[in-house]
Amino acid sequence: MAKAEKPEEFAAPDVLESQPCPICSANALTLTESEREIPFFGKVYLFSMTCTACKYHKADLEAAETKDPCKYSIEIKGKDDLNIRIVKSAEAVVKIPHMMTIESGPSSQGYITNVEGLLMRVKGVLESAKENAEDAGEQDQARKHLKKLNRVLWGEDLLKIIIEDPTGNSAIISQKAQKSRLK
Ligand SMILES: [Zn+2]
Repeated sequence: MAKAEKPEEFAAPDVLESQPCPICSANALTLTESEREIPFFGKVYLFSMTCTACKYHKADLEAAETKDPCKYSIEIKGKDDLNIRIVKSAEAVVKIPHMMTIESGPSSQGYITNVEGLLMRVKGVLESAKENAEDAGEQDQARKHLKKLNRVLWGEDLLKIIIEDPTGNSAIISQKAQKSRLK
């Protein structure tokens, strides 16, 4: 049988099991830590905490190198742009003008993804907003945003994405992205 090969960038994480959970205090928390090298960004440490008792989950990342507070923005103009890599820490705020702002906070997660992955997360939020809408106006708004998002995912519409991170641990990795210092 062929041995399953692990891609190099997914080096096996260090795992600590049966740790005390900060939320429910049960010794049911699994901590993981791993490293990844991100081209044009540098080495990143990834952390996660998952509690099997209360389902608490937190993931975050930190660049090995200290970075300045940053603001990135990019205009998504077609299917090729969906592959652009995004590094987002839990401290980052993601803004999609006229559609949604994903705030940082205790329940915010850090992750490495691409534009498509980020937009799929936004789509999930909009879908639950549509389902849980309290009035027709709210539902209409979510439906409108979903339509636009789908057109962007098909490469048929434009969308601006802004990421602001006071810790500097986030990036949109593309020459098309505009980077500035976060004021
Ligand atoms: Zn717990």
